[in-house]
Amino acid sequence: MMKFKIGMKPQVGGLFYATCRFVGLTRALLVLCALAFAFQAGPGVAETVKPVVTGARVAGDEGRTRFVLDMNTQVTPVISGLANPYRLILDLPEVSFSIPPEAGETGRGLISDWRFGLFALGKSRIVMDLTGPVSVDKTFFLPAVDDQPARLVVDLVRSSPQDFAAFVETSRSERPTTSVKVSAKSDKLTAPKTGHKPLIVLDPGHGGIDSGAVGVAGTPEKVIVLEFAKLLQEKLEASGLYDVHLTRDDDTFIPLGRRVEIGHEIAADLFISIHADSVRRGKKLARGSTVYTLSDKASDQLSEELAETENMSDVIAGVDLDSGPAEVTDILLDLARRETRSFSVYFARTLVSELKSAVRLINNPHRSAGFRVLKAHDVPSVLIELGYLSNEHDEKLLVSDEWRERMAGAITEAVHGFFRPRLARQQEAASQ
Ligand SMILES: [Zn+2]
Repeated sequence: MMKFKIGMKPQVGGLFYATCRFVGLTRALLVLCALAFAFQAGPGVAETVKPVVTGARVAGDEGRTRFVLDMNTQVTPVISGLANPYRLILDLPEVSFSIPPEAGETGRGLISDWRFGLFALGKSRIVMDLTGPVSVDKTFFLPAVDDQPARLVVDLVRSSPQDFAAFVETSRSERPTTSVKVSAKSDKLTAPKTGHKPLIVLDPGHGGIDSGAVGVAGTPEKVIVLEFAKLLQEKLEASGLYDVHLTRDDDTFIPLGRRVEIGHEIAADLFISIHADSVRRGKKLARGSTVYTLSDKASDQLSEELAETENMSDVIAGVDLDSGPAEVTDILLDLARRETRSFSVYFARTLVSELKSAVRLINNPHRSAGFRVLKAHDVPSVLIELGYLSNEHDEKLLVSDEWRERMAGAITEAVHGFFRPRLARQQEAASQ
């Protein structure tokens, strides 16, 4: 009997556990939700089973490269290209990736590395960084044979920049987008502004296909910041003073521009983006929290590098940057922008003084750089880096309940300080 020999690899069943270790809590909640749903829907309604990717590998050389996914069910990918830098996007229906998170770190031949994950609701994506222009020679599906799993195979060959550019154009219209609608909850928030509670948008960074930074012990930024944002939301809402909206409340990727739009669309009064940083050099030294505001010129080299890394999110997830809205220049908009910036700086200062007494901060904890996610012209915006995942002590703090409580408490105090004059005015008006 003939056997396919495409770089056979041991089974990776045990790795499923490793992959899910850090998202255990989220998964458990999802399972609970699913169970609750199944229960409500009555007997006979089972959860739809997602296709599972159980293995992946790259074979070949600079002339011809083969990308293989081991799968339990047949799926048909939509393949498209993105230039600057050269990338190939494989869009799939939502699948479970039962492969180690670092599976795509080293590529081969025409693929320098690749990433995978949830891109939008019900959509999974694989993004390959290419060493140059390629064309897709063929795509096919091999059914399972004996002890070999079924496989999705994509063959790439080297092509020219012109051919790749043409492929980028023709494939653009087929590529799914992250059409993330603001949830129904926010509809009522766009109601008349008079006397309404201040509306705060919390923006947990990265998500889905873009994990963000990864801790020394393996903790992904996207998980830490989501859990923290939910805790902070709870604390703020418990005061009864604010409405709080999250840009994402699950492991979904949201493009940076979309995050900015959400704040603008629901007319937020404050936008807080939450991240956890990582450095390559000086891992032992870089520790503590930092508060960033937007500036054209970065306050220092480190901040500039950080903004560059954070701004890469759309590139990492394979988002078409060319189709984003162009920046508008207008004198009125410019005035609004300036006013917004001074409110942002005011909040950042309030925040730093609250954080000082609660947690460890970096030197000069208020910094600035060109973060794309802070670019709303009408919503005061700051970005908090909770700490450094590249430092083992910081990583431990970031996952500890005690530290999270203190941090969320301090941010809540700063928010109270920021809105105090307005809340006092509202109270006065109400009593008259
Ligand atoms: Zn980040």
